[in-house]
Amino acid sequence: MTTIPVPATKATPVVLPVSKAVLWLAGTAIVALALYYFIGVDQGATSVFGKSMVIHEFVHDARHFLGFPCH
Ligand SMILES: [Zn+2]
Repeated sequence: MTTIPVPATKATPVVLPVSKAVLWLAGTAIVALALYYFIGVDQGATSVFGKSMVIHEFVHDARHFLGFPCH
């Protein structure tokens, strides 16, 4: 049995300044909350866009796929 030599590589940590990390974290949280709202909460009557069901219908399959209550 032969062994294939594996080059010795050392993992290097990602170095990110705190100011950039805060921006990435805040941006990710805002996008995640917006997605959560539009997929899980927006129901027409409580929609931020009025009584329109357009967004609800647009994300309807995702709502069912993720198990959010719908109808
Ligand atoms: Zn549904």
